[in-house]
Amino acid sequence: MKTDLFPEDIRPHLLPEPGGDLGYDCLNCRSRLQPDRLYYTCPKCGGLLMLTDSQSERLSQKPGSFWRRLFDYRLMDNRQAIRGVFTFHEFIAPLIPLEDIIYLGEGHTPVVAAPPSLAKEVGASFYVKLDGLNPSASFKDRGMAAALSYLQYLTRSQGLTQVMAVCASTGDTSAAAALYAASLGGPVKSAVLLPRGRVTPQQLSQPLGSGAKVFELPGVFDDCMKVVEHLSERYQVTLLNSKNPWRVLGQESYAYEVAQQFDYELGDLVIIVPVGNAGNITAILSGLLKFYRFGLIDRLPKVIAVQSERANPVFLYYSQNQAERKYAPVTVRPSVAQAAMIGDPVSFPRLAALVEQYEKAAGTSFFVVEVTEEAIMEGMIQANRRGLPVCTQGGEGLAGLKTALAAGLITPSETAVVDSTAHALKFMDFQNAYFDGRLAHEYGIPTRPELTNRPQAVSIPGVLPDGHTKMSEDDHRKFVAAAAREIAAALDLKESQ
Ligand SMILES: *Cc1c(COP(=O)(O)O)cnc(C)c1O
Ligand SMILES: [Zn+2]
Repeated sequence: MKTDLFPEDIRPHLLPEPGGDLGYDCLNCRSRLQPDRLYYTCPKCGGLLMLTDSQSERLSQKPGSFWRRLFDYRLMDNRQAIRGVFTFHEFIAPLIPLEDIIYLGEGHTPVVAAPPSLAKEVGASFYVKLDGLNPSASFKDRGMAAALSYLQYLTRSQGLTQVMAVCASTGDTSAAAALYAASLGGPVKSAVLLPRGRVTPQQLSQPLGSGAKVFELPGVFDDCMKVVEHLSERYQVTLLNSKNPWRVLGQESYAYEVAQQFDYELGDLVIIVPVGNAGNITAILSGLLKFYRFGLIDRLPKVIAVQSERANPVFLYYSQNQAERKYAPVTVRPSVAQAAMIGDPVSFPRLAALVEQYEKAAGTSFFVVEVTEEAIMEGMIQANRRGLPVCTQGGEGLAGLKTALAAGLITPSETAVVDSTAHALKFMDFQNAYFDGRLAHEYGIPTRPELTNRPQAVSIPGVLPDGHTKMSEDDHRKFVAAAAREIAAALDLKESQ
């Protein structure tokens, strides 16, 4: 919509003024660092960093109702810099000038109501937020949009001529990093480290297609992460893993969008999130708290984190008595929720700090459940069969919803929003393997025949098309009729009158 058609009081605010005082806060020694360079960890103590705006009070000079209206109107503004996650510029990274913002179509993914038949099977009405509809087909694009926009700002304002952006990945971080780095181009190049055989062929094809350098290493994600950390300590590289606190800011947009999509009324909502490295759940809690603090929402939703029982350090931590909780990494076992197959989540200290703040503000409203591999696969297939293209992690979320209902953590009167963190297509090999009965050995998942589906060959006598030789019209007519007869028989079709 053209600017002069917006209400008069909204017009001057459509394009945000860069501002605020963003800085890195060390969660460990409480140092504060200036945002004139990229830090991943505290240079003084090695602690994890969060980016905060020390002048965020300026946001409370406007009431929550103003921000709600502004963000809703911004959805109708077509200027690229304020589309996507930067619709919420003032709450994401107000430091970044609009000219440096990269928009590749990320964010504003739909929330889709589960069809009634599926809601009935599950025992509650719920929505799925299809974050697989992001440009690289996972939510990781949200964080990369923020991190690479900041990188563009740094390289431009400081005249940097060579930037090697590096990450370790369970598949989706590398796809997103390579995509955004490819768009930026110029001095920015990217390299990704992947655990060999532990990313899907689709995920491997993505950074290759984006022109990144791709390295396959033995071991699992946690091993690749250690190599990346070693690289970042000794060489000039720009780390794009979720240690990079700019990614957390971009991923907060998930929470802002859910708020917007439910008209800022989140009191009876339950947000369900699969957890691996704990970056996404951290960002979602942080985003919800910000919107609450500045009056955009007046109640905080319940949040339920979900882990596979084969990669469950966060679940194990929160199952202990509050007073005696001790964090310990776990050794992962193969999980079909492969993108969340992480035994030592990098963002765990951030998550623990945020859960504490969240429960201070909302009471007991953060829960972690664990689910079986079988429940994850069945969740994915069940959703896919009802028009919801969820990935294995989305299946994990759906399994988490069922577990939470059974445990009484959710009542059927509440409405759940399940985060399908990636597109089903990225994880189709798991579904095919399930159909073929190939998940029993490594993943311990038996195949239930009623959930399988296979293509059927149609056997037809006579001359058949081979794709290049021209057939006679008569032969072709016979082929068409015979094929139709076979299919009609297989489908048990009645002849039309
Ligand atoms: C990265 C990823 C996760 C896990 O998110 P974390 O931020 O690591 O907890 C879940 N699902 C998909 C599809 C992912 O790519
Ligand atoms: Zn520190």
